[in-house]
Amino acid sequence: MLLTGATVLTSLDPVRVAREDVCVVDGRIAASGEGPSRDCSGCLVIPGNVCAHTHLYSALARGMPYALAPPTNFTQILQRIWWRLDRALDEDTIRASALVGGMEALLSGTTTLVDHHASPHAIDGSLDIVEEALRSLGVRSVLCYETSDRDGPERALAGVMENRRFLDRVRREHLALARGMVGAHASFTLSDETLAACCEAAGVYGVGLHIHAAEDSADEVDSLARCGDRVAERLHRAGALDERTLLAHGVHLDDDEITLVRGAGASLAHNARSNMNNSIGRARVAELGPRVSLGTDGIGSDMFEESRAAFLRLREDDSGTGGDWPLRRLAEGAHLAGRAFGEPGLGTLEEGAPADLVVLDYPAPTPVHDGSFAGHWVFGLSSRNVRDVMVAGEWAVLDRRLAKADQQQLAAEALVEAERLWQRLDEIGPHPFEPHGSKGG
Ligand SMILES: [Zn+2]
Repeated sequence: MLLTGATVLTSLDPVRVAREDVCVVDGRIAASGEGPSRDCSGCLVIPGNVCAHTHLYSALARGMPYALAPPTNFTQILQRIWWRLDRALDEDTIRASALVGGMEALLSGTTTLVDHHASPHAIDGSLDIVEEALRSLGVRSVLCYETSDRDGPERALAGVMENRRFLDRVRREHLALARGMVGAHASFTLSDETLAACCEAAGVYGVGLHIHAAEDSADEVDSLARCGDRVAERLHRAGALDERTLLAHGVHLDDDEITLVRGAGASLAHNARSNMNNSIGRARVAELGPRVSLGTDGIGSDMFEESRAAFLRLREDDSGTGGDWPLRRLAEGAHLAGRAFGEPGLGTLEEGAPADLVVLDYPAPTPVHDGSFAGHWVFGLSSRNVRDVMVAGEWAVLDRRLAKADQQQLAAEALVEAERLWQRLDEIGPHPFEPHGSKGG
């Protein structure tokens, strides 16, 4: 396959823009080759975006009714919204969520999702459902199950086992588009025993732990009340903090914890829009160092929008933040996924890299080159420019439509499942779990 006539962003960090045809052979970027060509004149071809932290299971929550008293803090947001939704999920709604979430990711130019899945009443096999749904659309993914003690020790154990089962399958079947991590909810819903079991599983399979860390101050208060240590210290002592670990949020990490996280070489997924939406504070992303990537925390998968929001939020306090900041963060997300797949070239369009790419229909009104590209990213480009999307050398979106599935039908089926899910939700009350040290617990 040959993509002709486009301007090509071959690398996000450092920015490299070239005017050359893109050649894809056996799912990879090649220096030369033959085959059918696709006219991309006047287009910009970029590496596929990576969302480093999301929750596909929340895809059917959009606009759902809410009749309880409004939450006044983060713990209540979990108790009254997300920990009701996840308990209402069954196999059909998990599948529908993954399908619509995957569809929206592709249509917005995101080719890889690092997902954190929870469905406490349908744990066993849930990651297979997500994997199969994403594979049917052609989305690359790094999956895990959100292990937690909040629904009791049996479900905590089932969470660990689901991670292990899926990692076993990844190892056995050499899945082309999916890898796994060990998922854990957050320090404040994990007993020492469950946390140890997660770390053990991560060690056995040679993968990292994917966990929310210090998202809200409640996580820190709980950890201090539980063991006298702050969250990062507790994770460190449990052996949960190394260069494979993916922490989400990290808003309330203090100086010592940031030093600890950086020293361990752990990754941190920054979720700017989610942080704003939940009023939990602002992550110290500049201090958290080079291993900061970007996630949406389930607010869709549009990384143009997410990276722009994160950038502007940062610029609000620091006009010295360069326009290349969002590009470096997205490159870091691709490195994270690349490590999971053993593909160091993921997130570039350089020779040998997996052919995960997006064709943007972008009539650039000003010159596009290495020095100007960041400006186009921050002030010009958006997911509305996405025309075609390729993952591992196969078209997943062509002319703004899914290439492997009927998107109208998929949305219509999701609508039916969403109504069913919303009805089930009505019967589920606020979750009784309280963190240590909270007023309620
Ligand atoms: Zn999250």
